Amino acid sequence: MCETNDESISHLFLTCRVANTTWKMCGACIEVQSIYHNITKDKFLGFELLGLSRKCNCVWMIVWVAFIWNIWTYRNNIIFRNLKPNGVKVFTFVQIKSWAWITRKYTKAMFSYFDWCLNPITCLKYMC
Ligand SMILES: [Zn+2]
Repeated sequence: MCETNDESISHLFLTCRVANTTWKMCGACIEVQSIYHNITKDKFLGFELLGLSRKCNCVWMIVWVAFIWNIWTYRNNIIFRNLKPNGVKVFTFVQIKSWAWITRKYTKAMFSYFDWCLNPITCLKYMC
């Protein structure tokens, strides 16, 4: 995606500077610094958050899926639509997509997009 390394699953979703920027912004958003792993399976397992109920963590996994979805679609847009690599944009798309998916799937998810961006953990705790 960044056009500096050969594309592999690990590079695309984890170590690429674009993915790395997006992961760091996700971590900063929830005030967690230890979500950085180099193996996709560990990343998924490590994405579960302490202090959240099991149900909340199931909802939280939607963010992980939104992350993977947006990395992949942004990568395709770089290749086929000549977009420039931009981890900040990918992070914004992750916020939009995860908010849209969660609020459409769960009737108790009545928080605004603004609230979701400001404090996603509080939003999850409120709905679970
Ligand atoms: Zn890269």
